[in-house]
Amino acid sequence: MKDTTLILLAAGSSSRFDLPVKKQWIYLDGQPLWVQVTEAFERAAAFGRIVVTAEPGERKYMARFADHTFVAGGASRQESLANALAEVETPWVLVSDIARCCLDPEMLKRILEHKGEAECIAPALRAVDTVYYAKSPVNRDEIRLIQTPQLSRTETLRRALKEAKEFTDESSAIHALGEPVLLVEGSERAHKLTRREDLKRLDCLKPPARESFTGFGLDIHAFEAGKTMKLGGVTIDAPMGFKAHSDGDVAIHALIDALLGAAGMGDIGEHFPDTDPRWKGADSMQLLEAVLQRIRGVGLEPRHADLTILAQTPRLGGYKERIRRTLAQALDLSPARVNIKATTAEKMGFVGRKEGVTVHAVATLEIYDWSHAL
Ligand code: MG
Repeated sequence: MKDTTLILLAAGSSSRFDLPVKKQWIYLDGQPLWVQVTEAFERAAAFGRIVVTAEPGERKYMARFADHTFVAGGASRQESLANALAEVETPWVLVSDIARCCLDPEMLKRILEHKGEAECIAPALRAVDTVYYAKSPVNRDEIRLIQTPQLSRTETLRRALKEAKEFTDESSAIHALGEPVLLVEGSERAHKLTRREDLKRLDCLKPPARESFTGFGLDIHAFEAGKTMKLGGVTIDAPMGFKAHSDGDVAIHALIDALLGAAGMGDIGEHFPDTDPRWKGADSMQLLEAVLQRIRGVGLEPRHADLTILAQTPRLGGYKERIRRTLAQALDLSPARVNIKATTAEKMGFVGRKEGVTVHAVATLEIYDWSHAL
């Protein structure tokens, strides 16, 4: 099987899925779906290489889970496939949509044993219902519903994709070239996860594990006279604000780092570099929202946060409650799940000398329980 590369298409936006998490990132037991699908293929056959298409912003994150080649997906399935094909050096390529998440190893065997007998080998189901086309019934014995994975000769598939037309799968692209396509028996198990309702129908989906992850964040900002001071999304009545590329909300920055830490997503600088003019003067609350969207998109959700603000000045006792409620709302948590502590530095160090503020934050994420959404 060293002559075959596996391409898994996992860059979809899940626009029809109707949950905060993308379908490739729902957790099955303790693993994201795409990891489980990849491992199922690896158990069934030894591929020369595995190439996974990813949403460009998620490529680095996916690489933390598995040691494959991650390629940025494009605007369409076909574009993503073309990007992945550029990495393929083997004469054969097996392509599957990550949404066909319940791999039937018997079906895979049927496909692979016909290698070389056609330019593309695709699994197909027969129609069991009466089929109408353009208001008239047709002979359903002639109907085939095509599934994935499909095995193609790499060069032929490359040639087929150069055609300007948009194809929904490899078999139709190769058929359009006039090259032979061989259909083998598909599998009822290989249905696609497209809509949220499909979660009930697919029997290979184990419920998510009840696991939680804790992250820690720390941020420091120096004072700057004449700027508006923001802490935890609340405007503080003070003669100075914080020196920063963004609005300098040091509490939100520490919280973002705690959330990113729990998700295993690096740090705030990787997501919002201070060399990027887009974040100049940025409202930190918007950065927090963007981070939360990324975290929810990969199947995790905030459960708790605790912050300690070290400030000699200004006095924050009167603001703690507002900061707590503001952050709880931003995190979509009950205010009871957020805690804010404030302390001085007993006049020691840079905080004690009133040069700036330090914030420590801890946040907990849990795996999103999609089984409750059914
Ligand atoms: Mg900062």
